[in-house]
Amino acid sequence: MIVMKFGGTSVMDREAVRRVAHVVGREQRPRLVVVSALSKVTDALLEVARLAERGDGALARQAVRALHRRHEEMAALVRAPEGRASLLAAIDALFGELDTIVHALAVVEEVSPRSSDLIVAFGELASSRIVAAALEDAGLPSRWLDARTILVTDDRHGAAVPDREATDGRLRSAVRPLLADGLLPVVGGFVGATVSGFTTTLGRGGSDYSAALFGASLEAEEIQIWTDVDGMLTADPRVVSGPRVVERLSFDEASELAYFGAKVLHPSTILPAVALGIPVRILNSHRPEAAGTLITRAVSEGGEGPAAIACKRGVTRVDIASTRMLMAYGFLRQVFEVFERFRTPVDVVTTSEVSVSVTVDDTRALDAILGELQAFAEVGREDGMAIVCAVGERLRTDPRLSTRVLSALEGLPLAMVSQGGSRKNITVVLRDADAPLAMERLHRRFFEDAPAERAALASA
Ligand code: ADP
Ligand code: ASP
Ligand code: MG
Repeated sequence: MIVMKFGGTSVMDREAVRRVAHVVGREQRPRLVVVSALSKVTDALLEVARLAERGDGALARQAVRALHRRHEEMAALVRAPEGRASLLAAIDALFGELDTIVHALAVVEEVSPRSSDLIVAFGELASSRIVAAALEDAGLPSRWLDARTILVTDDRHGAAVPDREATDGRLRSAVRPLLADGLLPVVGGFVGATVSGFTTTLGRGGSDYSAALFGASLEAEEIQIWTDVDGMLTADPRVVSGPRVVERLSFDEASELAYFGAKVLHPSTILPAVALGIPVRILNSHRPEAAGTLITRAVSEGGEGPAAIACKRGVTRVDIASTRMLMAYGFLRQVFEVFERFRTPVDVVTTSEVSVSVTVDDTRALDAILGELQAFAEVGREDGMAIVCAVGERLRTDPRLSTRVLSALEGLPLAMVSQGGSRKNITVVLRDADAPLAMERLHRRFFEDAPAERAALASA
């Protein structure tokens, strides 16, 4: 069997959903379909939560009504009267429930992370209903499943951690029998629930992660991520003009690119696939005939330079200098223990004898973290930074590439430089305002001036 995940832009409007039905319909293998919320709906639901928290009940409920209408209009895509009536009834019930919740939260002017997850989950619950009905209408025997009965997580609302074993069990009993009967299960991504039944979400972009988890549990032959670009590109198309499709990537390369900002994949997507070696394919639902990107365990042989470059913008750099003369052992442990306690991940780390610099993306707890670090270190903070990195297996085997990366950035002030333990990436931290130029220069060097680059490497 395979897992087919369709992102928000693949279910943006009626045309897009028709394309999904076409793509799912031409596939012969048994398949589980995972669906994101309709494009922009998660943002709108987070805004609803903010309005409710401010006590702005009228505006919050107006936004819920607008979302209700948008989903109702989508229901009109189903042609069979019976199918359309039951879809409309399901949509009405969902938005009726959401309205009640939002009204109550606006009255008390309080939206806990748990309530926020409850609100946000409606996006995937509604979109997956619509896609299931559209598939049925297209003659495919689909079955809608409530993601909250399948994906079991812990209670870290907003960034819940899946319970793999419990989820395996649910998939075995709820999904395998449907597949065996030739039915087509459809489930919302991103959403799960704790064992006690509280709704949770996996973090932004988390539908990819759901798809990969389900694929690993069901020992899928392949996990397909259908999106709005032709695959993993050599750079973020919003930053660099005319990036190319990368045909093949190793799991490690794809993970690092996702981790350092290639939004096309949620950073955790690859993890469940790695253990079982399940290939992950990135495909374009707007151009299903394009070959896409294939991500596998195999390390690609070809190519002279990095596989792709990525950037993560708007990060904060924190410099932490030991107030003791030398970096006594235990200093790093002390530092990272503080970040751990506040559940704040650090992305890039560089050290010198008495100081360590890290970058942080999630700054919600940063003031408290800096306060604690000040007990044993001098700390400095600089917002408005960006991480730019070149990723590729070649970086490990060809030592000249690091120099080539750095020389392309000549003249730009670099705040940190690191070549991670895997040595499959070279990463720099610079001012966010310099990131587009840095990306453009790297892209030109490795992907546009390829013949010149080959000549430079040959003569070096
Ligand atoms: P979906 O709704 O399908 O999950 P996303 O918006 O999460 O889609 O991811 C697709 C987007 O990721 C693309 O439209 C593109 O703008 C962005 N992106 C950033 N970096 C890359 C990259 N290296 N390759 C492809 N897309 C990228
Ligand atoms: N709808 C969620 C989001 O926008 C999850 C996803 O699309 O993957 O973040
Ligand atoms: Mg996404």
